[in-house]
Amino acid sequence: MPDPSRPTERTIKGLPASGGVARGKLFVLGRSDPVTPPEYAITEDEVPAEQERFQRAIIATRGQLSAIQEKLRRMLGAKDAELFEAQLLFLDDPTVLSHVNRLIAERRCNAETAFAEVARGYLEAFKAMEDSFMRERGVDVRDVTDRVLHTLLGQDHAASLADIRERCILVAHDLTPSQTALLDRNLVLGFATDQGGLTSHTAILARALNLPAVTGLIDASRRVRHGANAILDGFEGTLIVEPTDATLYRFGAIEFRQQQRRDQLRQLTDQPAITLDGHALTLSANIESPDETADVKSQGAEGVGLFRTEYLFLRGNSLPTEEEQFQAYDRIARELHPQPVIIRTLDLGGDKVTRLWPAHSEENPFMGWRAIRICLEERDVFRAQLRAILRASAAGNVKLMYPMISGVDELILANEVLDQCRNELTVEGRPFDFDMEVGAMIEIPSAAMTAEAIAEHVDFFSIGTNDLIQYSLAVDRTNPKVARLYDPTHPGVLRLMSRTIEAGRAAGLWVGVCGEMAGDPLFTPLLVGLGAQELSAAPSRVPAVKFLIRRLKLSEAQELAAFALQCKDSHEILRRTRTLAETAAPFLFEKDQPTA
Ligand code: PEP
Ligand code: MG
Repeated sequence: MPDPSRPTERTIKGLPASGGVARGKLFVLGRSDPVTPPEYAITEDEVPAEQERFQRAIIATRGQLSAIQEKLRRMLGAKDAELFEAQLLFLDDPTVLSHVNRLIAERRCNAETAFAEVARGYLEAFKAMEDSFMRERGVDVRDVTDRVLHTLLGQDHAASLADIRERCILVAHDLTPSQTALLDRNLVLGFATDQGGLTSHTAILARALNLPAVTGLIDASRRVRHGANAILDGFEGTLIVEPTDATLYRFGAIEFRQQQRRDQLRQLTDQPAITLDGHALTLSANIESPDETADVKSQGAEGVGLFRTEYLFLRGNSLPTEEEQFQAYDRIARELHPQPVIIRTLDLGGDKVTRLWPAHSEENPFMGWRAIRICLEERDVFRAQLRAILRASAAGNVKLMYPMISGVDELILANEVLDQCRNELTVEGRPFDFDMEVGAMIEIPSAAMTAEAIAEHVDFFSIGTNDLIQYSLAVDRTNPKVARLYDPTHPGVLRLMSRTIEAGRAAGLWVGVCGEMAGDPLFTPLLVGLGAQELSAAPSRVPAVKFLIRRLKLSEAQELAAFALQCKDSHEILRRTRTLAETAAPFLFEKDQPTA
């Protein structure tokens, strides 16, 4: 007999951003819509009680903030917990408190009205400040103001990440890459967001953290209840709310099978990535943090094909110094020695924004102030990073690559700064690898079209398919509304990739692929056939790609690529690609099968 008091099961469909299944209660992260407090008059007799109510709200808010700060201190250390210092200072400011009390008494208005007016004055003053760092502090005032107003109104303040205390599936309208990087893996079993595409940096990070994730759920964060039971299926891209016993049973069986398959793939860890007809590829890993070197080894990757250094800049409360960066790069290089480690210079901007940087509100951030463009303007930041990478190169296995190169001019400028750093280090007598390979990411169509010229200034190319697809098809990689137009087998994309590989080959360079396409075994035959010599993927994806390579013939992959390069229809290319991949390794594509 179905239990009528039990809520009915609902399945919400999104995008399968990161494989895995999680079961648990939902923690719904509130949207920070500004609070509009009610306005009402009070009598003269009521003034002392109203002032006292305000005083109590301030004390309660201070208590909430201190608890959050303490939790952050335990999780991240004292430096990052300072984030809340500005909010606490605002609450303790005697000018703010006396101003509110005065307004309550003079205007005979409720505490919410008086406090909102005083806070508004501060907010406007912060907004008008010349110093961008100070302007950013306005966000703190807005946050603490809403918190006080919620307390006065007896409401719960919109839940924040720091309020998570129990194991849960996190549901949010959006998560920034830096918020995702800070998720407590012991508590957050997986996450679901309304926003985001499959190659948004939040999705990439979820795969790096091995955390099931579903993005592009449109408005799920408004449709689900905090505390509801749910299953998050990162393989299918669904959030199942209030699952029935039958669904729970089915997922239990799927989880068991997936674990068995993962164990089977692990057996390949020490095997080379070599095709059936003897063609060897380099299969390396994309990492976001020095802590991932253990995963690189355990998943059987041959070194690092992409270290996204920006997370060093997104995590802390200040820009990392040359020394701090050196420690991080040196640690990775030594832990993986003699395998190669490709360190990518800073690629902030786009969806990776930091509070530490002067605030630039951009209409179109992916087309804006990003990556090498920032570095060539902020020379001190760039130099500190180049020096740190050069110093780490003394280990002998480090390579450097520049992101978002659009043409040869940027590359020449970047190499000039690199030469200056080499000269400085030589004068200082610090060791480094004078022959360190330097590469360019090819992820902007203009770079693919001028790859011959770019090849004259570098030792290798690494194709960044995430951005190359985004920019060549004009499809925002983070926008779920256009996710279905994000098409890796579009003939235009494949021709740009082929052009890049051929130009690299003609100039004697090696060419790799480090976008998410390289981590999906579905596309392995196509990339191998196009002539990529290295594939770099999230560590968790390496075993499946290796499994496929070891069951593939180079000759078949080349036939597929030749077909794809003369075909006009992306669906037909995808169909043939799928047929070859599934024939080579049916095991990887069975239903309920994780590819991660
Ligand atoms: C890419 O664009 O494919 C890439 C690997 O870089 P990112 O995802 O960091 O932009
Ligand atoms: Mg990119």
